[in-house]
Amino acid sequence: MSFEEGELHNLVCIKHTPDSAAKMLVENGVVSWGDAPMVVNPWDEYAIEEALSVRDKFGGSVTVLTMGPESAKEALKTAIAMGCDHGILISDASIASYDARITSIVISKVIATLDNVQIVFFGKQAIDGDTGLVPMSVAYALGWPGFSYVAELSEIDIENQHISVVRLLEEGRQSCSGKIPAVISVVKEINEPRYPSFVGIRKASKAEMQVITLDDLGLGDQISSDYNGSLNWSEIQELSRKSTDAELLEGSDMHSIASELVEKLIEDKVI
Ligand SMILES: Cc1cc2nc3c(=O)[nH]c(=O)nc-3n(C[C@H](O)[C@H](O)[C@H](O)COP(=O)(O)OP(=O)(O)OC[C@H]3O[C@@H](n4cnc5c(N)ncnc54)[C@H](O)[C@@H]3O)c2cc1C
Repeated sequence: MSFEEGELHNLVCIKHTPDSAAKMLVENGVVSWGDAPMVVNPWDEYAIEEALSVRDKFGGSVTVLTMGPESAKEALKTAIAMGCDHGILISDASIASYDARITSIVISKVIATLDNVQIVFFGKQAIDGDTGLVPMSVAYALGWPGFSYVAELSEIDIENQHISVVRLLEEGRQSCSGKIPAVISVVKEINEPRYPSFVGIRKASKAEMQVITLDDLGLGDQISSDYNGSLNWSEIQELSRKSTDAELLEGSDMHSIASELVEKLIEDKVI
């Protein structure tokens, strides 16, 4: 895939995950999601929307990338139906056992082969693996600045290769700026994702996806011998449920109910 000199080329990384209502199963030490329907990881829809908004404002193109089995092409199709221009599937027989570290190494190798990438967008985390490690690990592997939990892309200065963002933290909002190319992971406060359009769905149904294997990247032997199987997740335990008692306070008026509540809270040493 090649791009015009100077063309703004942004990338969005998405994961094909089980639907948020899916229940995890463990059978014979193997964790799976049964036959739950697969969707674009919900957090990644915000990343797609932000990449498309930047393209709508500055021009250029958006490539969507996923690493997964052949069926993960469905996630790419959804992103193309939303408006992305190109799709890349990183596929290999060994991918199912990758941990977040290996995933990040492979994704960053692919990004390094693409021309003129300015911003790589990620969701803040995948709803199945849930580590939230991939975005900043990719930034580290590429040697690019990484901005996590971005709730606002305040400025992109293409000429001076500069970006300003607002990060959403538990304590408040933090303004940051740095150089592009850069990696950002976004939170849902950043935008309202668009729906796939009718024209987009037709385009997606005919779209040719580029498929990249580990051998294409020259990583085949290295991944299987050095990295593969470095981490296993073989058991899921349900959280123990807390039993709680509820008591309904009744009275003739709000004042007497409030007084009774205060007495009970003092009695229970809550206040
Ligand atoms: C039940 C379960 C438990 C797991 N536990 C661990 C664990 O403890 N440690 C560990 O290292 N791995 C673990 N994994 C593996 C992990 O899910 C995968 O390696 C995954 O590819 C990356 O981690 P994540 O799903 O946590 O992604 P996160 O880091 O949560 O994802 C953040 C963002 O990165 C992007 N992204 C993630 N995966 C891909 C992809 N395949 N292709 C394109 N973009 C992507 C998306 O934008 C996503 O929103 C687990 C998997 C499962 C199913």
